[in-house]
Amino acid sequence: MLGIGIFGATGRIGKLLIEALQKDKEANLSCIYVRNELQYSIPQGVLVTNDINVFLESSDLIIDFSSPEATKLLLDTAIDRCPKPIVIGTTGLNKMQNDLMISASQKMPILYASNMSKGVVVLNKLSKIVSSALKNSDIEIVEVHHRDKKDSPSGTALMLAKTCAEARNLNIDNVRISGRDGMIGKRSDDEIAVMSLRGGDVVGRHSVGFYLDGEYIELIHNATSRMTFANGAIDVGKWLSKQQNGLYSIEDALTI
Ligand code: NAD
Repeated sequence: MLGIGIFGATGRIGKLLIEALQKDKEANLSCIYVRNELQYSIPQGVLVTNDINVFLESSDLIIDFSSPEATKLLLDTAIDRCPKPIVIGTTGLNKMQNDLMISASQKMPILYASNMSKGVVVLNKLSKIVSSALKNSDIEIVEVHHRDKKDSPSGTALMLAKTCAEARNLNIDNVRISGRDGMIGKRSDDEIAVMSLRGGDVVGRHSVGFYLDGEYIELIHNATSRMTFANGAIDVGKWLSKQQNGLYSIEDALTI
């Protein structure tokens, strides 16, 4: 049995990971890290700790859905004390945190995915094809998430924008805009717009539009349950536990 430790266990995704692992036949919940007292009951035999060293030592694999600051703490400790395979689902990492993840992957296998759903992997592949095939189309990406989401645009929308840009040999940092307001003038040809809407309890909606004169294509993915992300993270975790040190993407783990 693969013993999985959950980092961010009291969060929306963390709680679902705990639920999903109770039904899993190949992996179980070994340990959860909590900063403060736990407000809900967890299965017997699972270690609950606020000591990251103990947490790392008690798990074969870590799944992280927390916050960028917490992910940094986890990676710093893993590098210094106890390298373990880590699946990172936390989004909104800044450049420094992203660089830390890259250097940590020299000491342990790490899989980073801003979206753990198989459907989004397919959406990303389709976006690449359409961006390249319809080179003159105007690309507009819209993401919708629940009112509590902290980062914007979503990590998934940024990934989709990067994929579309690279399919046209463009650097996303030079062509992305994430807002329009006032007398902004004509849309530029290379521009890739990424717009964020926030409201209610929307789990996650991403649309990638390719607009031409006389026709357009819109590719849309809707996540209707957060359990999709929890199950996806556990699936790629089982794969990651058998890999060498290195940084992996969800595409590496799935055969789609
Ligand atoms: P949440 O706010 O409900 O939960 C966050 C968890 O992290 C909580 O348990 C909290 O206690 C813990 N945490 C936060 N800061 C911490 C710190 N400094 N030290 C220790 N623990 C800390 O959030 P959520 O909706 O569960 O999402 C968590 C992360 O996962 C976010 O970055 C979100 O964008 C991302 N996310 C990714 C995917 C994906 O498929 N990759 C899907 C959904 C959400």
